[in-house]
Formats: sequence, structure tokens, C-alpha cells
Amino acid sequence: MPRVLSLLFLLCLSVNAHADSYITRLLNKPVPGGVAVVNLGASSQAPKASYQGKPVLVIKEQATWLAIVGIPLAVKPGTQQISSAGRNLSFTVGPKQYPEQRITLKNTQQVNPNPANLKRIEGELAEQISAYRTFSPNTPSNVLLDKPVNGPLSSKFGVRRFFNGEERNPHSGLDFAVPAGTPVKTPAAGKVILIGNYFFNGKTVFVDHGQGFISMFCHLSKIDVNVGQPLARGAVVGKVGATGRATGPHMHWNISLNDARVDPAIFIGAFQP
Ligand SMILES: [Zn+2]
Repeated sequence: MPRVLSLLFLLCLSVNAHADSYITRLLNKPVPGGVAVVNLGASSQAPKASYQGKPVLVIKEQATWLAIVGIPLAVKPGTQQISSAGRNLSFTVGPKQYPEQRITLKNTQQVNPNPANLKRIEGELAEQISAYRTFSPNTPSNVLLDKPVNGPLSSKFGVRRFFNGEERNPHSGLDFAVPAGTPVKTPAAGKVILIGNYFFNGKTVFVDHGQGFISMFCHLSKIDVNVGQPLARGAVVGKVGATGRATGPHMHWNISLNDARVDPAIFIGAFQP
């Protein structure tokens, strides 16, 4: 490359690097199941923002307020809007292809549950959706998260899953391959808002990190916390297990923003477009 051109190239790179904030560069992955970081500008008070009628996480970076918007997996690529202080602000959702996974389960109830189990599942779902809709006013301790366990990723977010050949809900979180009994640590400070032993998710803990930013850990062998308990960053919530619909011990972790389940890999710097 001629010297002048390469200098120009470097200049453009550095200009681009300064155009976006640190948090924007790390978290802005506007795809279905991703996150949009929308600049709300400077103001003395925190502005409120909403997306699809639900309140959105707003944090301050230096002098600027940023809306950290969860994009549901079902959103189609194109223009989306949030509203804040009487204005509509747009962002563009790009495409993302999610792979397929085929899983064989011996317990056919976990594929086609009988009416009694369906009733149980319905009740449990309502309880969990209500937890995801929690919106407490506190600001999260950190939005770049620690891994809840140290181990390799075994199944990515968004994978289209076929159980015994039948398509079911896509994978709503991230799996880590770690042995049963491994302590699971909360990746940011928070409060325990729900625990349960669910048909699909097994022993489960929900942690509210603030403003609709919520972690769910499931398939635990043991729960070490109680509802209402405040947690420091890194506190142990339970132990890895294989309860619920699991083919073996692993850690399943969901992240939810404004009641949208999004790819936890974004928050640990492991997102792949
Ligand atoms: Zn999983």
C-alpha cells in the first residue's frame, strides 16, 4: 500500500475507534437475539427509554446516556425504534443465521408432554416471564460480565433445536461444559428474584442485576441462595447439575434485557457474528 494511502487508512481506523463509546463497541451487536446500544445524548438526569412498550436499561458512560436494548430473536432485520423523552430513535437490525442442532431424548415427556405436564409447564412459564419483566431502578454494577463458570462453550445461543426430530424453542442461552458440582457465580451484583425446580429448566435461579438486566442459571444440582437475597459480584448461586431437560451436566445461562432473551456471549466478549 502506498505510504499516503496507508496513513489515510490508519487515520480512518482511529476516527472510527473514537466515534463509538467503549460500551458501544463491546455491546452493540444489533441482530435478532442481540443488543443495540442507542445514544440518548447528555442530560443531567437519566432519561427513560422504552422498546416495544417495555422499559429499557439506561446507563451513563462519561457524559452520555446509553440505552442498552435487547432485541428479541423473533425480530426481523430492518429498522427498529425506541422512544425516549418524547422522541423516537432508530437503529438497524442486521441479519444473523443461527445453526440447527438435533438432540435425542429418551424421556419423550420432555418432547411431547402429557396434559398434566403441559399444565405444569404453562404455570412455570408464567412465573418465569413475570420474573423477566422485573424492572428495578438500580444501575447494574457492570454490564461487561464475568463468566459464571470457567469452561468451554458447548452450545451457543439461538441454535434451532430439534428434539427427536421435532422443532422446539430455539436455545435461549449459552451452555458451558463443566462438571456437576462446579460453583456458579453471579456475573454482576444483583438480587435473587426467583428460584424454582422447573420441568424444562430444572433447579433454576434468577438474578436481577437492575433495570431489567437479568440472569437465569438452570439445570443446577443445588441452589445456594434464597429469594430476596442480595448478591455481590461473584457470589455463588448454586452448583452445576443436569436437572430438568438436560442430556448431561452443564451450565445453562440466560441473559435478558427488557424481557428479551439475548446472546450472553456478547457480554463476555465471545460474540460471533
Ligand atoms: Zn442450554
